Amino acid sequence: MSDQTNESHGDNESDQFRFETRSIHAGQEPDEETGALMTPIHANSTYEQDAPGDHRGYEYSRTGNPTRTDLEANVADLEGGEYGRAFSSGMGAINTVLNLLESGDHVVASEDVYGGTHRIFTQVYEQYDLEFDFVDMTDVAETEAAMREATELVWVETPTNPLLNVVDIEATADLADEYGALSVVDNTFATPYLQRPLELGADAVCHSLTKYMGGHSDVVGGALVTNDEDLDERFGFYQNSVGATPGPHECFLVLRGTKTLPVRMDRHCENARTLADWLQSHDAVNRVYYPGLDSHPDHDLASEQMDDFGGMVSFELDASLEETAEVVSETDVFTLAESLGGVESLIEQPATMTHAAIPAEEREAAGLRDGLIRASVGIEHVEDLQADLQQAFEAGLN
Ligand SMILES: *Cc1c(COP(=O)(O)O)cnc(C)c1O
Repeated sequence: MSDQTNESHGDNESDQFRFETRSIHAGQEPDEETGALMTPIHANSTYEQDAPGDHRGYEYSRTGNPTRTDLEANVADLEGGEYGRAFSSGMGAINTVLNLLESGDHVVASEDVYGGTHRIFTQVYEQYDLEFDFVDMTDVAETEAAMREATELVWVETPTNPLLNVVDIEATADLADEYGALSVVDNTFATPYLQRPLELGADAVCHSLTKYMGGHSDVVGGALVTNDEDLDERFGFYQNSVGATPGPHECFLVLRGTKTLPVRMDRHCENARTLADWLQSHDAVNRVYYPGLDSHPDHDLASEQMDDFGGMVSFELDASLEETAEVVSETDVFTLAESLGGVESLIEQPATMTHAAIPAEEREAAGLRDGLIRASVGIEHVEDLQADLQQAFEAGLN
């Protein structure tokens, strides 16, 4: 799939250019005065006004900054959205969506959401009398069963973290619509190169730009994209009021990252598929979670709603918590670290790292077992990655 360069990645007839071209150019023009190609880092807090209240589009950099404007336009364009807002982190973006809710409102979310999303829902917002239900969203009937009159938000993450479950975005967005709730999709794992939730009916898309969009593990950022002008205005109100806005250096780094998103994603997908195939046939491995495998329960749905299957692979060793911890400590090419989406391969144990904040019984019930390993497959040579996992298995397993 990844070698078909004329394959559609969010291209429709109204787009003048294809995804690969837009990722490099959208939102950015050479500087009029100097001809400088790259968007400057506008390290600047305030702006001269021509007369009181008469400014040139910028007053103060929390409210707006030209480097941020270019990033917002770029990310919005790639998602096929009209409006984009950038934040200082993915959590800043998620917080902004939650700011829209009022006491008494109810939220339905995927049961294996990102650990930080689970934490802000339950440990920050429950105290303001918001209610959250975590359900197995791979079954639309379960999502429907959780919907109530008070449900104002349906929070979708797909593929999910770390089990790579696939949620039917179109069916879930339709359901949210039917109940008058907002549907927001966290598209961090897939990126718009592989999946565009707005085209499938979602009201908004949320990103941690820290991951594949930035792509080099050197910046933290977030974004919200929508086609709904009113919704964007409300996002903008909270963006400015709460102030979780990114600095211009961060915006510059993410803009540099999105230029190579398509080529990076192609290699991430190719390497992940090779490793998933190999792991699936490995004696030490009980189970592999990768939507690109025929054995994945939602492989058909993933093939429909995604252009390729991403760079995240999870697998379960036939091993204890301790042995699994040993394996992830023994890799040389894979770095033991949280996070994902950079050019370098990372490995982690969800039970003791990214998902340690989830209580043990809830974790177990959600299928996050002690032997589970999550790999963010980078763009190194795949044979080096495979050999590294093999030697770590030999060193860590008895
Ligand atoms: C990392 C991540 C977040 C949070 O983003 P930060 O940039 O770390 O604040 C949210 N959702 C998903 C799926 C993530 O991977």
